[in-house]
Amino acid sequence: NSSRRHLSSAHSLPPTYEKLFNKYTEVRRVLGKQRLTLAEKILYSHLHNVEESLLNNTNNGRDIRGKANLRLNPDRVNMQDASAQMALLQFMSCNLERPAIPASIHCDHLIVGSKGAEDDLEAGIETNKEVFDFLESAARKYGMDFWPPGAGIIHQTVLENYALPGLMMLGTDSHSPNAGGLTTITIGVGGADAVEALVGAPWELKAPKVLGVELTGKLDPWVAPKDVILRLAGELTVRGGTGSIIEYFGPGVDTLSLTGMATACNMGAEVGATTSIFPYTEASARYLRATSRGQAAQNVETLQNFPGAGADKDSHFRFEADEGAEYDRVIKIDLSQLEPHINGPFTPDLATPLSKFKATVKEQKWPESLSAGLIGSCTNSSYEDMTRVESLLKQAADAGLKPASDFYVTPGSEQIRATLERDGTLQTIEGAGGILLSNACGPCIGQWQRHDGVEKGTSNAILTSYNRNFRGRNDGNPETMNFLASPEIVTAMAFAGSTTFNPMTDTLKTSDGKDFKFSAPHGLEGPQTPFESGNPSLGVLSQPADPSAEIAISPTSDRLAFLEPFAPFPQSDLSGLRVLVKITGKCTTDTISAAGPWLKYKGHLPNISTNTLNTAINAETGEVNVAYDLDGSKHTIPELGQRWKDAGREWLVVAEHNYGEGSAREHAALQPRYLGARIVLVKSFARIHETNLKKQGVVPLTFENEADYDLISAGDEVSTVGLYEMLQNGGKGSVQIKVTRGDGEEKLIPTKHAITEDQAGFILAGSALNLLSKGI
Ligand code: SF4
Repeated sequence: NSSRRHLSSAHSLPPTYEKLFNKYTEVRRVLGKQRLTLAEKILYSHLHNVEESLLNNTNNGRDIRGKANLRLNPDRVNMQDASAQMALLQFMSCNLERPAIPASIHCDHLIVGSKGAEDDLEAGIETNKEVFDFLESAARKYGMDFWPPGAGIIHQTVLENYALPGLMMLGTDSHSPNAGGLTTITIGVGGADAVEALVGAPWELKAPKVLGVELTGKLDPWVAPKDVILRLAGELTVRGGTGSIIEYFGPGVDTLSLTGMATACNMGAEVGATTSIFPYTEASARYLRATSRGQAAQNVETLQNFPGAGADKDSHFRFEADEGAEYDRVIKIDLSQLEPHINGPFTPDLATPLSKFKATVKEQKWPESLSAGLIGSCTNSSYEDMTRVESLLKQAADAGLKPASDFYVTPGSEQIRATLERDGTLQTIEGAGGILLSNACGPCIGQWQRHDGVEKGTSNAILTSYNRNFRGRNDGNPETMNFLASPEIVTAMAFAGSTTFNPMTDTLKTSDGKDFKFSAPHGLEGPQTPFESGNPSLGVLSQPADPSAEIAISPTSDRLAFLEPFAPFPQSDLSGLRVLVKITGKCTTDTISAAGPWLKYKGHLPNISTNTLNTAINAETGEVNVAYDLDGSKHTIPELGQRWKDAGREWLVVAEHNYGEGSAREHAALQPRYLGARIVLVKSFARIHETNLKKQGVVPLTFENEADYDLISAGDEVSTVGLYEMLQNGGKGSVQIKVTRGDGEEKLIPTKHAITEDQAGFILAGSALNLLSKGI
């Protein structure tokens, strides 16, 4: 019979895929002939208990999306150095010998980009020695892979080494979906989620909707895969992907390089998507072989030719959607019609086609002078990106031209850097005056020391091939406008030193007065011979767990501190809370927990909490980082939080839409919690942040009627009605907020919540970690 045939023939599957295949067979048994998208196939094949997740609360496995709570078993966890500190501090509190699944640590966020790769790396290692030593000691103790500073940026390293089609990974960084380019489901999470997966507890996710992006046609030579996502961001806005996985399909997919697909997935984070994914194509196989993983490509082939697990009898598991699979929404993009785009400033969804950019710059009175062009980063430092840039640099060099703006390049990994060096691309970049930065995040995350005299507070424009452009993100200057584009467009415009230059149509003057016009860029998808591994001292440290190893934390450290557990929820509703501040406008995770210089306190909760909400705008006064105590005295927001914490007064913040948009930064939840926040009451939340709040024991509530935002003010006294009961009932039931204003007037405000049974348990215990350390 067929089930016996599955079992016996499963033995000839590559071991990597046996588990996936067997789970998928179970999914098929439960869902029958239902057509599945690619994202669903992989996601559901990681369910802890297929029947429980797919049948509960759904119509016999139908209408799962947006409804079922999936309890998933990820295959691995990847952590970057800034977020790994808190993740590891939390994991340590669970007193386990080793993680339940493989994990890696990547030292990339703490290196400042300043003078150039070598000097910066040396200075970065010296400044952050304590943190790197801590991370390395934890990696040794727990048998996690350790990628030292200079080895590369997490997402590039993961793509080159760990991503494999069909895998499900968690990454403690919001751009982890980069690995979706290689047909994985990779989700950006906070450290507390990572700890759940590391201890082997099922990780919970509301079954995402699936937003299909159908690609047809082929890109024009001036257009890059980056433009697909820049254009999409313009259409979807920063909230349009919330609760959804973006799945690309259609004949256009086959025209893209693997690294191009990774770029599009990387920036799916900018529209709030849970993750993004591409089908497996010939380009994927070529990339696996180029990165010395020919066996993996072979395994995929074997799985895809293995009979028996598809929607129809004898059909196969293929890394693409079933024919006829339904998407919740489909956006069509004809690649042949796509133009280069430039997105920004201050938000990644303000998309302008290149042909209209000049007019928009003039209309908006954005700076016309371009102060710097920065390319590379985890988003755009592939071989293809860099060789396409090289083709432009060579044309300009032949015409005797140099970039008119400062021009920086950040390779995504030592592997890509060494390969570009071997193949002469780096020499072309440096020959053009490009400043090579270390294989680390640098200017993408505020780690940028500028030497061009642009003072803080001065309005100026930079163009980057990065993925995110919130105010102050790159150089700590809130007036720096970061415009996002493909590396080719950034490079060509850097030669003009102008934001109004259109390299597709405009000309530059050479020194002898001739007109020079760029020809369209061209490059190679990958190197002709396999990638170089580069400097061995920047290679991975991979070893089995050594439970006897000591973890390096100095008791006098101001950068690392052991975590104290948060107190459990009181056995009653909350009362006597006060509104610390009412916030207006965008409130991103950067607003709640700023990066840049604060990154150094990521492992020290009391110290980093002194930056809490320090760029939030007070809705009542318009002031930034200002809050008023009940006696009228004026403070910074974190100062008032600390003052109330010292006085034993718990509090809430009130804010508007998409609160916590941006990154997976769990400090944005931990810090308010540490300072005494019990509730965050907003018009809407960004998904990752809302989950992070619950994991740290903070109650996220949204207004049932958005207009009620106007009924509540800073300093108001707040108590809850129905909250304790709802938590005790595992998330079932509604919650009202009773507001007592300064004049004694009382109001009841209805709210909504998305607290599941598990999450109610976290909140009651005081935090998810409190539950995990008890062993769930
Ligand atoms: Fe680093 Fe920037 Fe990529 Fe984040 S987005 S991993 S900060 S390079």
